[in-house]
Amino acid sequence: MRKKILIDLAQFLGTSVNGEYNYGECSYDFHPTNVGMKDIIEHAILRFRCRRCENAPCISVCPTEALERREDNVIRRAVNLCVSCQSCVVACPFGTLSNRIITNLKSVCDLCDFDDESGELRCMKTAPPGAIVFTDMEPNEQDHIYSLSDSILIKDYAWEDLKKNE
Ligand code: SF4
Ligand code: SF4
Repeated sequence: MRKKILIDLAQFLGTSVNGEYNYGECSYDFHPTNVGMKDIIEHAILRFRCRRCENAPCISVCPTEALERREDNVIRRAVNLCVSCQSCVVACPFGTLSNRIITNLKSVCDLCDFDDESGELRCMKTAPPGAIVFTDMEPNEQDHIYSLSDSILIKDYAWEDLKKNE
């Protein structure tokens, strides 16, 4: 069974250093100030926390059309169009978006080409303890573990999951 990265979203969003989330340090070769985990956390928030409003105020307020709804109903942000005005952060009635995430700096995670033999990655060592770990788990709604990609699992109380408990 192939090893995956398990990210605990609440661990990230519940910790901050000097007012910023602690994404951990990144080993991205081509840009020493890159923080790859930031991009993954944004995708996870839009995938699992966003309530996918029918007439999404975040989309309609954006002056540069940087936000769009994909075919699967997930909202995505085009960082190259975003001017970081934070209008969407203010417009979202659920506090889904954060001005600490919606910036126009693009981060990239290449997952460090990890494989089953890889030791702890740099982000794992420097992020909040337990926030990023390797796992051989599979997605599992009972434990609130969801698939973000083939290599990444997210642990979170996802919006779809919360709706079932209403
Ligand atoms: S912060 Fe970016 S995505 Fe949000 S409204 Fe402004 S331009 Fe649009
Ligand atoms: S307004 Fe907030 S909850 Fe609604 S679609 Fe936009 S980001 Fe998601």
